[in-house]
Amino acid sequence: MKVDWLIVGAGFTGLVLAERIASQLDEKVLVVERRNHIGGNAYDHYDENGIMVHRYGPHLFHTNSDKVWRYLSQFTDWHPYYHRVLALVDGKKVPVPFNLNSLYAVFTPGYASKLEGLLLNHYGFGSKVPILKLRQEASGELHCLTEYIYEKVFYGYNLKQWGLTPEELGPSVTGRVPVHVSRDDRYFQDRYQAIPKHGYTEMLQRMANHSNIKILLNTDYQEIEGEIKFDGMVYTGLIDEFFNYMYGELPYRSLQFEFGYHSVDTYQEVAQVNYPNEQSYTRISEYKHITGQRAYGTTVSIEYPLAYRRGQNLPYYPVPREENRKRYNLYLSEAESLDNRVLFAGRLADYKYYNMDQAVARALGVFEKQIAGGKRS
Ligand SMILES: Cc1cc2nc3c(=O)[nH]c(=O)nc-3n(C[C@H](O)[C@H](O)[C@H](O)COP(=O)(O)OP(=O)(O)OC[C@H]3O[C@@H](n4cnc5c(N)ncnc54)[C@H](O)[C@@H]3O)c2cc1C
Repeated sequence: MKVDWLIVGAGFTGLVLAERIASQLDEKVLVVERRNHIGGNAYDHYDENGIMVHRYGPHLFHTNSDKVWRYLSQFTDWHPYYHRVLALVDGKKVPVPFNLNSLYAVFTPGYASKLEGLLLNHYGFGSKVPILKLRQEASGELHCLTEYIYEKVFYGYNLKQWGLTPEELGPSVTGRVPVHVSRDDRYFQDRYQAIPKHGYTEMLQRMANHSNIKILLNTDYQEIEGEIKFDGMVYTGLIDEFFNYMYGELPYRSLQFEFGYHSVDTYQEVAQVNYPNEQSYTRISEYKHITGQRAYGTTVSIEYPLAYRRGQNLPYYPVPREENRKRYNLYLSEAESLDNRVLFAGRLADYKYYNMDQAVARALGVFEKQIAGGKRS
């Protein structure tokens, strides 16, 4: 069998590239996907109770990129959705990111008002102060507040999520989490925030619906290697697997999801409730809040982080530590030595956490610069 392009992986990255090559270059693309569905980790579907769920955990689309938004809008209408998150702290549900409303959820009105005044004086209304900066700078009562947020909202969640302390992870992860000196409870601040009206899977199906694109599900690249001839190849799977783990495995964090159906209209106040402290899970997500679906009953997922073990569970989050970056760079050198005969892109091939909009932007960039731009040798 001969195709113009072989693409490994039918997630966001693989399907954006397939769509671009098929529609803009009029070339034939074969996409191989080892799972039994397209969409990668963004896959959504109706469960046995008729509730739309996200198989691999809640996916909230948000972006500041006009380009990405315009591109995806060719394939879907949108359901506007602003994500809101509560965290269970000392028996109370507190808005996160921690903001001025959170103060009143945790402390007495008098003390909350005093802390609000201190935050406003020091940082000004509307500012977003990274937790690490606050810890370094704050003194007196603001210092106590900072330690409270760090210990009760942040530390335990991080420890469970990564299996590492914030110190072990380093500031690229830990420095990001801000305290909002405002009453803005939205989890994301991006200009565009919405969910594909009929789901991610349908949007991606539309993207792949082109006579130049064929998708083979349940097909592992490593099993068909050598059997398909192609002029160009894009690999969106694990880069260490591609090179047969010659420099050892790149570590990932994995997750286990426990889905449960409840015969109530809604299970919790918002789509996501975090459990930073006592429980072994990190969060409970309720999908109807996200999709806006009107139906009897509701489905939630409980999320347990755990280490990734090859063959036993799925690789979700690259672990952002310096030693892992160094190992990835060894694989990157191998990839570069292939002189663009194989292009690597996506969160597994780049060993980088991408939000969906970043995965789309990366795929569009690879298409423009390395494929349509004629830089391939
Ligand atoms: C729990 C969780 C929650 C998330 N929430 C959000 C969110 O709220 N908002 C957001 O913007 N982003 C979110 N993301 C990130 C989002 O999932 C990614 O941005 C997106 O999935 C990246 O797409 P991708 O195609 O690069 O990778 P993937 O989705 O992983 O797709 C890669 C595909 O390649 C296939 N594959 C790999 N190797 C092979 C092989 N050898 N042969 C055949 N097929 C192969 C895999 O099966 C997979 O389907 C979340 C991610 C996780 C894990």
